[in-house]
Amino acid sequence: MSTLPVPQRPPMCDRKASSSSFADAFDDARRRLDEMGVHEPDTDEEDALSPVPSSGSSAVGGEGGLASPAETVSPASPATPITVPVAPMADANGVADNFAFAFDIDGVLIRGGRPIPEAVEAMKVLNGENEWGIKVPYIFLTNGGGKFETERCQDLSAQLEIDVSPGQFICGHTPMREFADRYGTVLVVGGEGEKCRQVAESYGFRDVVTPGDILKANATTAPFRKLTDKEHANSRDLLARHGAEKLSDIVIEAIFVFADSRDWASDLQIILDIAQSKGGRLETRSETFDEGPPIYFSHNDVLWSAAHEHARLGMGALRRIVETVFEDTTGGKKLNTHAFGKPQVSTFEFATRLLQQWRATQHGLAELEPPATVYFVGDTPESDIRGTNAMNAKAKNEWYSILVKTGVYQDGTEPKFKPRKLVDTVLDAVNHGIRREMVRASGGRRDSVVETSLPLDQDTLKAIADGCVPPVEVREDLFLAEA
Ligand SMILES: [Mg+2]
Repeated sequence: MSTLPVPQRPPMCDRKASSSSFADAFDDARRRLDEMGVHEPDTDEEDALSPVPSSGSSAVGGEGGLASPAETVSPASPATPITVPVAPMADANGVADNFAFAFDIDGVLIRGGRPIPEAVEAMKVLNGENEWGIKVPYIFLTNGGGKFETERCQDLSAQLEIDVSPGQFICGHTPMREFADRYGTVLVVGGEGEKCRQVAESYGFRDVVTPGDILKANATTAPFRKLTDKEHANSRDLLARHGAEKLSDIVIEAIFVFADSRDWASDLQIILDIAQSKGGRLETRSETFDEGPPIYFSHNDVLWSAAHEHARLGMGALRRIVETVFEDTTGGKKLNTHAFGKPQVSTFEFATRLLQQWRATQHGLAELEPPATVYFVGDTPESDIRGTNAMNAKAKNEWYSILVKTGVYQDGTEPKFKPRKLVDTVLDAVNHGIRREMVRASGGRRDSVVETSLPLDQDTLKAIADGCVPPVEVREDLFLAEA
């Protein structure tokens, strides 16, 4: 056992003030959400909206000065067309000024690297190819990652046949930018090759160690993992880089799991080694198992929708394994890790800021005014729907959850967190949202629409009243630096 003095990491409260509240709030929000367990009623707004009569006094076609070439909305059910005026919902430039969309990506727009067919059409509808010629602002909010935001936007642009800007895009590790100046030497896990190291360095992290670096320094770390020649060449010489005589001279100040692990066994071993070390010092063992560095995961999704017929294991599964095995190998010690991404309310609050800026820069809408309603379309009840409903419970504007059947959620099952609307595809989701706004704009069903805002159980209301969903200091300037 090493006799070197154990370096002391500064306490969280003494670190850079500008970023501490963000990280703490993310973790706190996750804990609060677990405690809150937001539950929704079995409300089906389709029932409230579908019966709008074409002869109703407030939904009369032909008398409202229709500006569009068509006079009817195409609802989810083609048997119940609605005739509504268009003017109230768009500004002079034909941009919807009181509602917007936010999309999860995997399982909603993309699956197995290919666009879900209806997604391309859905984007066209949002970009003005609809019966009213209106454009609807939208952003993307994915828990995925492993690439530069600019690269992912280029991929998405090609897949969806639109131009996607980093100014309308948030991925799982985007919030980790704010930690770059908090820590010196960090371990970054996940992703292909050196990509996540490059992303971390682009965020400003000064000394990024990868599992490959550790395996290169000591191949016995993971007995069954052998670096390829390319991996060996790309991995850094830790001792030389740190001017150290032995690995125990090197201290990992934090662990960031940026993207899904490509080798769970060796990554798990290395994460646990450092979690059980003396203050992050490599190849040491703590006697108390309570002095390891903080561990951050870019999201907590246990499952995600890939090309396979059934959902695949995601980073959230690795997180659970890390915490469970840590407990199993330390005589019952608890390991508390942190997770970003959905369903953290903080992530949705940041999305609100991003959406406001995007509406202002791209569409010329008032930056200070959030859209009255944000339609969030996702495929995972535990992250997309749970987070949207929790955000709706806290936010002044409305966050309306729509669950699609093209991803993690399996049709016919009972989602643990219930959406406001369940539809087949993202195109149905877009049409539903626009149609709902048309009904609102018509005035005919507005009251009933407002009244169907998601009611909350008493525990949730009390949690919100008690401030259990904390405000977050968001530094959107950092997040939007690449825009
Ligand atoms: Mg998804």
